[in-house]
Amino acid sequence: MRVNERRYIRSDKMGQRSSGDLSAIENILIKRYTPLMFATVIGLVVMFLASLYLSSVSETQAANNRMAAMQQTLQLSQEVGRFVNENRRVLRELRSELYRNQPITSLQFRDSAETIAQKWSYLDLVTWAPAGKINNVYPLGLNKQLMSETLAPSILSDLKDSSKNLLMVLEGREGKVTKLTFHSGLFSGDAEEPDNGVLSLVSDFWHYFKSRALNEKKQRLPFSISLQETDLTLFEFGEQTLLVPENVYSAPIAVANTQWVIKTLIKPSDLQIHGFFWLIAGVLSIVLSLLSYRVICIYKQRSVDVQAGAYRANFDLLTGLPNRYHFSRRLSETIEKAKQDQADFAVLFMDIDNFKKMNDQLGQGAGDALLTTFSSRLEFAAKSTDLVARISGDEFVFVAREVDDVIKADLLAEKLKKLLQQPIEFAGQQHFVTVSMGVAMYPIDGDNVPALLHHSDQAMYAAKRAGRNRHFFFNETMREQAESYLIIHQDLLRGLEAGEFELYYQPLLNIKSQKIDICEALIRWNHPQKGLVMPDKFITVAEQTGAIREIGNWAFSQACRDIRNFSDSDINIKIAINHSISEYYSNRAFERWKGILRENSVTGDRFIFEIPEALLMDKKSVRMNVVTAMRKMGVQFAIDDFGTGHSAINYLRNYPADILKIDSSLIQGMQTNAKDRTLVEVVLILAKSLGKIVVAEGVEDDEVAAHLKELDCDYLQGNWLLEPKSINLLIPFLHQHMFEQE
Ligand code: C2E
Ligand code: CA
Ligand code: CA
Repeated sequence: MRVNERRYIRSDKMGQRSSGDLSAIENILIKRYTPLMFATVIGLVVMFLASLYLSSVSETQAANNRMAAMQQTLQLSQEVGRFVNENRRVLRELRSELYRNQPITSLQFRDSAETIAQKWSYLDLVTWAPAGKINNVYPLGLNKQLMSETLAPSILSDLKDSSKNLLMVLEGREGKVTKLTFHSGLFSGDAEEPDNGVLSLVSDFWHYFKSRALNEKKQRLPFSISLQETDLTLFEFGEQTLLVPENVYSAPIAVANTQWVIKTLIKPSDLQIHGFFWLIAGVLSIVLSLLSYRVICIYKQRSVDVQAGAYRANFDLLTGLPNRYHFSRRLSETIEKAKQDQADFAVLFMDIDNFKKMNDQLGQGAGDALLTTFSSRLEFAAKSTDLVARISGDEFVFVAREVDDVIKADLLAEKLKKLLQQPIEFAGQQHFVTVSMGVAMYPIDGDNVPALLHHSDQAMYAAKRAGRNRHFFFNETMREQAESYLIIHQDLLRGLEAGEFELYYQPLLNIKSQKIDICEALIRWNHPQKGLVMPDKFITVAEQTGAIREIGNWAFSQACRDIRNFSDSDINIKIAINHSISEYYSNRAFERWKGILRENSVTGDRFIFEIPEALLMDKKSVRMNVVTAMRKMGVQFAIDDFGTGHSAINYLRNYPADILKIDSSLIQGMQTNAKDRTLVEVVLILAKSLGKIVVAEGVEDDEVAAHLKELDCDYLQGNWLLEPKSINLLIPFLHQHMFEQE
């Protein structure tokens, strides 16, 4: 299981997507948050929403409570006003009775008071005090002792001195007023006259107010009515301790000569409801948190299951490699891509030799160990663009995207064979395994998955039949080509080792000075069986197999030695060396050439490197870097075979090359082909204007040589002057030429 998990992660890294791809939301839920985190967030969100809701509820509640307090205060003050007005009306009525019946008899007084008392049921007492002395009392009964009492002089003077024809006195006990006495002055003419007097009545405010303001229909908030700036209360209702200033709506009311104040409780928001609410919110948030925790856990488990399922469906559990199903999908993707890019690639089908036998003899454990070692070796050899899969028991497939020709495929197969042949250790013993391979090339051997698999499989069987431990190409001619290339490749390496190579030289004539100051080195192979082999028979193969680097190094070393040989014969020339693009592989090429110069104590300015134009057109900075570095060492660069291929005349200015070698095909075409002639003329004019040195290659006769001289060409090279010769034959020629010049 461990291995599989690791494999899965790794395969993701390789960009192999599983079929159970998660949706974006699932990704966020499952990858970014742990269940615990998610549950906490849910809980917090619920609590936050609850507090938002509660604060808005309690705000409206507070506003409503304040409004209720205001309304009640208004009603109460209206009620108080009604009480005072009623008493005022009663007084007024009695007064007019008294006026009418001056001086009034006791009987008359009693009748009038009785009539009034029937209408105003809260009337407790009426007195009439002409000249300040009580003369009549209603009801008499217990109030008899009031007769002949004198009113307080302050009452008289207060009534007289002002417009206050209604005076109110509070009556009560222990700070509580229950009854109110209203006095009204009745004065005509002189105040001392006996018919002047004070009419007074006592009304039961407390009962009035209780019945009016506190009937069952009305739900009352606690309130108090008291005299302003004293603690004398007139009426209280409800829990008075609640009436603290911050919770109270208070309004002043003027009652006759006094100022009262009504205080009503503004109900505070209901703490009990809040508590209950928080309890509910808390429980809800816990429940939701637990629920979401559970859901995410289930989800997570499910997604792990899905991934594991997807993994099993796509990958081989033992090796972690894509299985046949997944491989087919990816191979068809590779085919699509190759179709777009018009690229070729190779499919290598592999089968371990005698696997069954080993499995039977050593046991399944050994077989598994063998397979895992085998697969990890393949993975090790694979580039990021390659595709490796185990498609059944001991069969593996290797798709090499960058291997676009047979020679490369051949070399890759060789490389894999070597890698896989290394001993595998199991149970303290070393085992040797070999592998048979079949190679099919896209698109020649098949342009679809079944064809490529079938054909590479067929080739593998052919390899088995031919004795195992080898690779076969599906295509017979390819096989031959690859074989011959491989043979040449191995023969080249052998020949280099055996010293079968030689540099021939062809001189270049400097037209202006008529001297020979440059010779081009051209490689030759003195093959023991084939005799003298020309470069066109092996350079292309060497370029494809990579042997060109060995050849190049040998050629450069030899040229260095030959520089010294020329010097020894008093010949001072530069040597032009031919290079292929693949020799400019990395900075190591520069280091190597620098080393060769140093080893031979020769300076760079003795050399010209002839390179194909394509090398300079290529934007790969590595190659340019090598060119620049060599130029700094004094080496001159010449563009070889100019005028063939995609010569980019407009880029000429930017090329870091001093010399231009016009291709021999153009030079030889000058005599017969007007187009070639014009082209040579144009190139010459342009190159000269850019300060480049121009060499004409392949000059075969006097006529062409004369024409080129006319066109102001700098150098002439070709059989017209001399065919390429070995150094031994060249030195006498150069001596002869020098002699003739002098
Ligand atoms: P190249 O660089 O264009 O070399 C000139 C070729 O033209 C030489 O062929 C030379 O023998 C031939 N030649 C010279 N004068 C005449 C003439 O008047 N008429 C005709 N028809 N041919 C003439 P060679 O020596 O067979 O070389 C062929 C190619 O092999 C060279 O073409 C060069 O690209 C490559 N080559 C030679 N030596 C080396 C080497 O050391 N390294 C690399 N990378 N390539 C090399
Ligand atoms: Ca050349
Ligand atoms: Ca050439």
